[in-house]
Amino acid sequence: ARLLTRVDELVRLVPDYPKPGVLFRDITPLLADGPAFAGVVDAIAQAAPEGVDLVAGMEARGFLLASPVAVALGAGVLPVRKAGKLPGPTAVEHYELEYGHASVEIHPFTVPDGARVLVIDDVLATGGTAAATVALLEQCGAHVVGLSFLVELEGLAGRDRLGDHPIDVLVRIP
Ligand code: IMP
Repeated sequence: ARLLTRVDELVRLVPDYPKPGVLFRDITPLLADGPAFAGVVDAIAQAAPEGVDLVAGMEARGFLLASPVAVALGAGVLPVRKAGKLPGPTAVEHYELEYGHASVEIHPFTVPDGARVLVIDDVLATGGTAAATVALLEQCGAHVVGLSFLVELEGLAGRDRLGDHPIDVLVRIP
């Protein structure tokens, strides 16, 4: 409960970023607080399913959480990147944004067939990025054993796009 209060205090609210009408949750103060960051990493690792082989982190803030969680679990880390960042050969999944579209890519040769993967990002908003990441991993023969987010923006119903995969969230925002 103390950790959750700290997370609440350390996630900064930024109105009208990145565009008017959006209330952005900025986790940089949380990352900058040693004990709180360690507590968050520990909480995510504690809640993780058994036998995780790989922790997938979404570019870019997901990387910062996925890496220490992977080390804590004795798992590997899998960077899920935006278009054009990996040398390839890549596996790609395209998805729709509110305006336009985007894609996520991984190196499929780093994902053993049937690998048990935990997916991590900082914020679950519309769920588009996470849903595309799940589809991408499954396309590559991985088994997504769970997803973990620091913050869930419940009003955007992102959870509804993630099927029945187990979802762990530290802080829910109505
Ligand atoms: P989605 O709408 O769930 O696909 O979110 C898109 C991406 O933007 C994800 O990687 C989220 O981490 C990120 N994102 C969305 N809203 C916020 C926010 O308020 N703060 C930080 N990241 C956000």
